Amino acid sequence: MTPPRIGFIGLGIMGSAMAKNLLKAGCDVTVWNRDRKKTEEFQALGREAAPTPKALAQRCDVLITMVTGDEAMEAVLGGPDGVFAARFGGSTLINMSTVSSAYCERLAALCFKEAVTFLDCPVAGSKPLAENGTLLVLAGAGEKALEKRRSLLLSMGKAVIHAGPPPAGTRLKLCVNLLLAQMTSGLCESAALAKAFGLDPGLIFRTAEASPALDCGYFRMKKDNILKEEFPPAFALKDLLKDLRYALAGAASRRQELPVTGAVEKLAAKTYNSGERNSDLTAMYKSLLAGEDK
Ligand code: NAP
Repeated sequence: MTPPRIGFIGLGIMGSAMAKNLLKAGCDVTVWNRDRKKTEEFQALGREAAPTPKALAQRCDVLITMVTGDEAMEAVLGGPDGVFAARFGGSTLINMSTVSSAYCERLAALCFKEAVTFLDCPVAGSKPLAENGTLLVLAGAGEKALEKRRSLLLSMGKAVIHAGPPPAGTRLKLCVNLLLAQMTSGLCESAALAKAFGLDPGLIFRTAEASPALDCGYFRMKKDNILKEEFPPAFALKDLLKDLRYALAGAASRRQELPVTGAVEKLAAKTYNSGERNSDLTAMYKSLLAGEDK
């Protein structure tokens, strides 16, 4: 079987690491990114950068999208230069961006209409896991379509969790990110209260690491951010806010109450508005330290 020609759209924090892992696995990859500068390192590796998403779709059998969310997906898929303008029936579209459940459902229907095989495959895990290829792929796809692309997905991740047909992958991702958001806000509030009490926030990590119930890889990952009060982005706050809003919209469509998620959304929005949109999601700690009206 001839290996598929892969088109990768979106070379941000996650996408550039994932596309590099496809190259390491020997895949034939062509890239596209809105900011052309980010394609330069791929061109230096001998890879082509397509001029438009449409041109990429015209030359590839499998397209992978890893962009911000619903609006970015619309921008790369729609319009005269977008992927769907290529009329790429017979090809496969794998969306790995975190989008809303409603958008994912519409995209699945559009792909069906255009005879494009659609795999809904957002990922769990952030920058370091994208770099070392140990992401978890949360898949919403038909069994056969997923089996066909399993090894491709495993070039970017260490496991594929099959949640059901689309949009089950996206729905699972939103449930998982809700948990991540609450763990982050819990950690930030705990450290802020420690500081308010005149305690060293490092004691929280010492206690958690010594406790079988509270010891957790995620807290260890975010320890430096909290203790140094530095927030270089691994998962940007703007994307957490987006995902919380997708989760709340999904919950509202099912009349499911999520009161704590609603409160975390307010803290994330306040942090976003204080100029931290591109900081790591742990910048919610900075916002808590700044107090109510600052
Ligand atoms: P990022 O670094 O901000 O990259 C976003 C990408 O989307 C860039 O390539 C950007 O292009 C592109 N984009 C945004 N708006 C666009 C538009 N209107 N038209 C065309 N391209 C557009 O984000 P990331 O961290 O890689 O995240 C990518 C996706 O993975 C998001 O859905 C995020 O929620 C999800 N995710 C992230 C993490 C994480 O820890 N970072 C973990 C799991 C899942 P430019 O370069 O031109 O701006």
